[in-house]
Amino acid sequence: YVKKHGRAHFRFYREEMSHTFQNEVLMEAHLKRAIEFNELSIHLQPQIDFDTYEIDSFEALIRWNNPKFGFVPPSQFIPLAESSGLIIQIGDWILEEVCRYQKEWKDKGYRAVRIAVNISPKQFKQDHFAEKVKQIISKYKIEPKYIELEITESSMVNVEETEKILKSLKELGVFVSVDDFGTGYSSLSYLKKYPIDIIKIDQSFIADLNKDEKNEAIVKAIIALSRNLKMDVIAEGVEERDQETFLKLHQCKKGQGYLYNRPLPVEEIVETYFIR
Ligand code: C2E
Ligand code: MG
Ligand code: MG
Ligand code: MG
Repeated sequence: YVKKHGRAHFRFYREEMSHTFQNEVLMEAHLKRAIEFNELSIHLQPQIDFDTYEIDSFEALIRWNNPKFGFVPPSQFIPLAESSGLIIQIGDWILEEVCRYQKEWKDKGYRAVRIAVNISPKQFKQDHFAEKVKQIISKYKIEPKYIELEITESSMVNVEETEKILKSLKELGVFVSVDDFGTGYSSLSYLKKYPIDIIKIDQSFIADLNKDEKNEAIVKAIIALSRNLKMDVIAEGVEERDQETFLKLHQCKKGQGYLYNRPLPVEEIVETYFIR
């Protein structure tokens, strides 16, 4: 019985594996044509200033709606785009879309806001990344300070390469933030080496606020660290008023999360935050 059971289990495992693999191959084939077939779109999520309660910045989050797979979450297809190299093409598309929106809103006379764009490691390290950003920004005549690039600690491992790219971005005048701060494996020394403007406290720390004392100590320390380094700090994944109270008490600058709004389609954002 044991042997039989074991074998059946093994076969089940193998089928699962190949099924996952086939699915990924198929998904990649669909992802390759997602831009062409108009399946990608952008949602924006507001970021709240805790002093003024104004919203002067948003994060752009990609969405993929495919006829076969339905809505695929970025946590599923971004890694696939990253490993297949499609992220370069998709990343270019997002940056260009965001700049296009910025231009359109400027022409319509809407108030100026900053938009943060997630940049994955392969995209960040591509040849002439900073040059590419510069070209897209100048094509749409955007002021660089209205574009923010979110990078993760995993983009910062190669010191010389990272330093060069970040310096070019700084010269250009865009904002740079560290996303998911506190969850990576890199040392804190990068904070003194690189020109970074904003620290985004990872949502896992915010979720445990008012539940776990160690966690509260970490969040307080990150806020103090960013203040002493003269960087801005924003909390991700703020869902409850109690979390906001804690963050404001400890002088966190900004918050982003379901408490304020979910990421919404651009048209809804425009209606809610620009045309009143
Ligand atoms: P991220 O950059 O850390 O984005 C924050 C994620 O948290 C988003 O998930 C957002 O919808 C979600 N979120 C916002 N507020 C709350 C909240 O109060 N509670 C909870 N539980 N979640 C909240 P999303 O849109 O599914 O994106 C997941 C990740 O996929 C992003 O994490 C980012 O790493 C990546 N991603 C999304 N869009 C892009 C993109 O355009 N380019 C690249 N390279 N990566 C992207
Ligand atoms: Mg992000
Ligand atoms: Mg994050
Ligand atoms: Mg992330």
